Amino acid sequence: MSTLVAALRSVVGDDHVLTDSDLRATYETDWLRQWTGTTPCVVRPGTAEEVAGVLRACAAEGVAVVPQGGNTGLVGGSVPRRGAVLLSTQRFTELGEVDARAMQVTAGAGVTIEQLQRHARAAELDFAVDWGARATATVGGAVNTNAGGSRVVRFGTMRAQVMGLQAVLADGSVITQLGGLPKETAGPSITNLLVGSEGTLAIVTAARLKLVPWYRHTAAALVACDSLVHAVGLLPKLRQLPSLDAVEVLLPEALQAACKHLGMKPPIDPASAGAFVLVDCAAHRDPTDELAGLLSSERGILAVGAQREQLFTIRDHVTIAIGALGVPLKLDIAVPVLNLDRVVRAIRGSLRELAPNARLIVFGHLAEGNLHVNILDAGDAADALRHLVLTTAIDLGGTISAEHGIGVAKTEWLERLKGPAHVAALRAIKHALDPAGLLNPGVLLPGD
Ligand SMILES: Cc1cc2nc3c(=O)[nH]c(=O)nc-3n(C[C@H](O)[C@H](O)[C@H](O)COP(=O)(O)OP(=O)(O)OC[C@H]3O[C@@H](n4cnc5c(N)ncnc54)[C@H](O)[C@@H]3O)c2cc1C
Repeated sequence: MSTLVAALRSVVGDDHVLTDSDLRATYETDWLRQWTGTTPCVVRPGTAEEVAGVLRACAAEGVAVVPQGGNTGLVGGSVPRRGAVLLSTQRFTELGEVDARAMQVTAGAGVTIEQLQRHARAAELDFAVDWGARATATVGGAVNTNAGGSRVVRFGTMRAQVMGLQAVLADGSVITQLGGLPKETAGPSITNLLVGSEGTLAIVTAARLKLVPWYRHTAAALVACDSLVHAVGLLPKLRQLPSLDAVEVLLPEALQAACKHLGMKPPIDPASAGAFVLVDCAAHRDPTDELAGLLSSERGILAVGAQREQLFTIRDHVTIAIGALGVPLKLDIAVPVLNLDRVVRAIRGSLRELAPNARLIVFGHLAEGNLHVNILDAGDAADALRHLVLTTAIDLGGTISAEHGIGVAKTEWLERLKGPAHVAALRAIKHALDPAGLLNPGVLLPGD
């Protein structure tokens, strides 16, 4: 290992190879404190050429590499395993000039989503993908997990924002597609292949990203619904709003947990409804009246300015509040919206039977049928509950990962979800691009 460390130092410089256990510690445990590993060293390259040098040095010693951005991933994919070298993208912080004509910008893989949003807004534009971990999560992580968040209903996931990438393949070769052409038919898109690949096919060093208009006028509503069925029933009329920017759902336990964590009185009594829908509108002109008009027959509150900010602070703190309560069984499923109520009923039923003392906290992105299912204190029933939730999602035409990825948490479920032919094709691609299995082994593909 000392030969490898010396080789890495010669590639990136002494300051960027961290071997001290105190310095390595934060890289070795994930945000959930659920996955922990050890790495001989954290290496922080600053250029694509340095990444290539790191990969070649690791390949020469037969040592695997785990890429890590903000380490906010929730499926254990960014934590070192079995003595792999941890490659941090922290030094890829370059932000190019905003091209307002093309509405695009080039961002380094280590740029945080918040830095990107600020940069775009300084040029009167905005970045479309947004979620609670924005201050820490990076462009490279978002590309590799195909991050979603709250604005997918309007702008799509990360995949829809990526115009091109610069990426270093396992053999050290560098692919650069940062021209940002909106049209090109020149074979399959390697950029598309890399989006959502969870660090298993290449190290992304930069991305050419779409920007969207920055809508300064906003209005939100928190609607108290009798049930999830009622909440889903709002979607057809909400989708008629040209300014519709987000449609989130919080079951009462989620509203309660976030408000308690923040030391805040809930804006509506959580016990007074079966589900809460948080609707956000954003436009170049004040959307308050159109939102109020559309929801006039519903029970809830309309919020603008600081009050709207407060609603989103609550929304952003649900995951944080759950994390403060313990390490949950955390599942990120999506089903066709008509089946949302069936999923939650099935989970509640199983909890009564298998873990009556466990605590269920559910919230998510209503328009995409995406629920974050969190079960605290599942104890010995955790495996059975995971099986129940994921099987129910698949059987109802859904997925086991809507936005967090497969990571190390759900590899054995991939084939059940996608079928053997799909997994075999993914394995063939992996083998072609990374024959020695150097990049993030154990993530995404079962038995890898
Ligand atoms: C409070 C909170 C709220 C969240 N809410 C959402 C949400 O609403 N929507 C959502 O989609 N996610 C959400 N997440 C999950 C997380 O923020 C996203 O998955 C995010 O995209 C991870 O980015 P990261 O930079 O932290 O990546 P990491 O956690 O460091 O890595 C994630 C994966 O990408 C790989 N990777 C990272 N960078 C690179 C690179 N440059 N090249 C190759 N591979 C790389 C890693 O190996 C790993 O497999 C939330 C997380 C938290 C903590």
